Amino acid sequence: MKIPSVTSIVALLVVCMLAMPPGRAFPVAAAGEYAETPIRELTLGVSAQGRPITAVQIGVGSRKLVIVGDTHGGPEANTHELTVQLIEHFRANADQVPPPTRLYLIPTINPDGLALDTRFDAAGVDLNRNMNTNHDACPENDWSPTVFGAYGIVSDTGGPFPDSQHETRLIRDFLLDASGAIFLHSNAGLVFPAFCEHAPSIALAQAYAEASGYAYSRTWEAYKITGGMHDWAGSMGIAAITPELISGVDSEFPQNLAGVQAVLEQAAVLLPLPEDQIAADIRVPAVIWRYWKSHGGEDMFGLPLETARRTEHGLVQTFTRARLELDEDRADTPFLVQPAPLGTQSAAARSYGGDDAAFAPVAPDAAPVFFPETGHSLREAFLTYWQRQSGLADIGYPLSEEFEATTVDGRRRIVQYFERTILAYYPEDDSVRPEPLGWRQLQLEGVAAPWMAAQVR
Ligand SMILES: [Zn+2]
Repeated sequence: MKIPSVTSIVALLVVCMLAMPPGRAFPVAAAGEYAETPIRELTLGVSAQGRPITAVQIGVGSRKLVIVGDTHGGPEANTHELTVQLIEHFRANADQVPPPTRLYLIPTINPDGLALDTRFDAAGVDLNRNMNTNHDACPENDWSPTVFGAYGIVSDTGGPFPDSQHETRLIRDFLLDASGAIFLHSNAGLVFPAFCEHAPSIALAQAYAEASGYAYSRTWEAYKITGGMHDWAGSMGIAAITPELISGVDSEFPQNLAGVQAVLEQAAVLLPLPEDQIAADIRVPAVIWRYWKSHGGEDMFGLPLETARRTEHGLVQTFTRARLELDEDRADTPFLVQPAPLGTQSAAARSYGGDDAAFAPVAPDAAPVFFPETGHSLREAFLTYWQRQSGLADIGYPLSEEFEATTVDGRRRIVQYFERTILAYYPEDDSVRPEPLGWRQLQLEGVAAPWMAAQVR
């Protein structure tokens, strides 16, 4: 079991303070309001150092196109300037964003790097090398802590694990329902698509190159890019490109406006709607599938046990270890899909036992990480797992301390209740796994079927 470093604990605490609690974290527009509000200001969240990360939405079409300005901080500040200019242009010319597109412009996903005049985030991680790019069929772009750079320089800036950074998680979750993504960088003077032979990304890059005048490049030739945002997006089915400005100083606004306008004009062809996928012979709605896949897939949530059901606010689908809920009222926040609070229900029912001592609040210095929100702590293997699995988003706050209980496989194990799940420790392979609360929930609701048993481990 790995003990986290002091810096990772500090980073975690910062994230804990800043991360939104489960539920409706943002004031969002009421149903129907978008139709009368073609221009809208959004705050997606804040950076690790508390700087706001904002977007401007223009248009209300079904195909979401996201332009991500500055990712690489101060050294690529001209891409921030370019995005601000694009915002001013489309504010004044909102009619240039007709259906089927709705356009989002994010001036910077790395406000800390912009303020601190560094390519990296506040923790020294390259956000464009931090994403989990292990989902596609191309191993050469898989996330790596070691990063290759210009002139053969190798640095250790990929982050401690994929999707470790707050900003990385934020853009990942904001893009879950996107059709297209344009990540602006400088200064190589070319446009390249997501690398793993993703046809929509290739078509988008070619269209942008032709209109802007930048050279089209099938790959990035200078060095290997691992953990790149474009590659993660491509692996999710999003048409994703990286235009590199020629200059490191000028914003090259006319060229890029022409590129964006060309994409808008051909949106019905270039921006594919998210597609449903099949897992374990069961259809999974596109956006739920993207959440499931990019937040840990089968290991974290198990396989789907039923087709998605329609609810008043969206969709719900039960997997072996979780129930994933898509709430359309949370569209255009990073919280469009969330796991249901099955752990909270289990804790209330004491379904895994746990005596008063396990539920009693503990002292703030009882463990490496203490949560004042619930008065409970996290340590060792569960702490490491929580950090790597988008903690608050996928698991939630701890509702108990660790205690021993009989898990679904009939063994006595160390477990702990959380809002969205119950974690169990497996000493035989030093692993942590969420208990099959989705499967249990279906049993409680009387829709259990014998074949489910085979899917629980
Ligand atoms: Zn860059």
